[in-house]
Amino acid sequence: MSIRENKLVIGILLGAIAGIVCGWLFGPAMLSVAWIGDLFLDALKMMIIPLIVAAVISGVTSLGDIRKLGKVGGFTILYYALTTASAVFIGLVVVNLIQPGVGVEQLSDKVPESVSSKGNTGIVDIIKSLITPNIITAAANTQLLPLIVFCLLFAAALTTIGEKNRTIIQFFDGLNEVMMKLVIWVMYFAPIGIFALIAGQFGKAGGGTAIKSELIAVGSYFFTVILGLAIHFILLFIVLIVFTKRGRAYLTKLLRALFTAFGTASSSATLPLTMECAIEAGVDKRSVKFVLPIGATINMDGTALYESVAVMFIAQAYAHSMGITEQIIIFITATLAAIGAAGIPQAGLVTMLIVLSAVNLPVEGIGLILAVDWLLDRFRTTVNVWGDSVGAAVIEPFLPKNDN
Ligand code: ASP
Repeated sequence: MSIRENKLVIGILLGAIAGIVCGWLFGPAMLSVAWIGDLFLDALKMMIIPLIVAAVISGVTSLGDIRKLGKVGGFTILYYALTTASAVFIGLVVVNLIQPGVGVEQLSDKVPESVSSKGNTGIVDIIKSLITPNIITAAANTQLLPLIVFCLLFAAALTTIGEKNRTIIQFFDGLNEVMMKLVIWVMYFAPIGIFALIAGQFGKAGGGTAIKSELIAVGSYFFTVILGLAIHFILLFIVLIVFTKRGRAYLTKLLRALFTAFGTASSSATLPLTMECAIEAGVDKRSVKFVLPIGATINMDGTALYESVAVMFIAQAYAHSMGITEQIIIFITATLAAIGAAGIPQAGLVTMLIVLSAVNLPVEGIGLILAVDWLLDRFRTTVNVWGDSVGAAVIEPFLPKNDN
């Protein structure tokens, strides 16, 4: 690792720790630095759309023959589906073993405004969200899924028009390089940005005393999610070691992105950094450009795991018995709901409604887990980004050999 990267990792680590300590100790007073965090977050968000468009188009066209896209795409989807399903499985195992919801008092009987205002989303809505009638509106609203579908189709068509595609491909290759350069510049701002984001959020939650009492109220649930996430994180690490020649060094390279994921609670906002770190770690750029944008949008291992634990926790609290059939339904719907969740803060909380209604649980149950959700969001987003990053390394060997 270069000295520059070393300094940045240490800076980001110190920023994150200082953010937690200051937010914990000084509470709402830290809201005064929240704007600095917003500035950092906005700088990252500013890059998402041009970066995704350029990366996906340049990534797909660099694969060459359109038929090769099918193979790489197939393995990517397979990897994402298998790891998401195993995350849900781990979640179900730990929640069945620990039973965090048994005996928990029902604290609320109201659907939180943040959830009810989003309306109910079904699986058909997730499928429909693949296509947008207006690509500009989708981009303006950061709806990444239809944007990526459009870019995939656009790039695929581009590879079929012969010589005429040269200038267009060069344009998107160049745009991609420029965006990555901007990411490096923004990265220098990360230590202070992450400090402010975390301190501001801890301050918003009322500081250490308030957070402690929330954690005590649902401590066992919190611990169950964290334990499941930790097991899945290690499982992904084993996948990395077994299927690629990478290991600890890769994790170290990715630390900047993982801390940013923790700081922002958004895998989409972290995407520019995830791509930068994976390229620095030596992953083939074609894999980075193709696998990571798709991953940041549809691959949410941490979210899937959290949804299965949360729904089972709510069932236990309401003393609804969940047999094997219900748990299979949770398994399937949590996997789909996680795919449908956008890479933005607390998106998983909203798509969890799909899982709750699939097993006839009251939506009000969300009130039980709301207080600590902002914090769990940070941990699950970190696992989401780790899952995407391992994916880029696992898919790398499946890339066609002949092109650049
Ligand atoms: N915040 C998560 C992400 O961006 C999604 C969620 O679980 O709410 O990856």
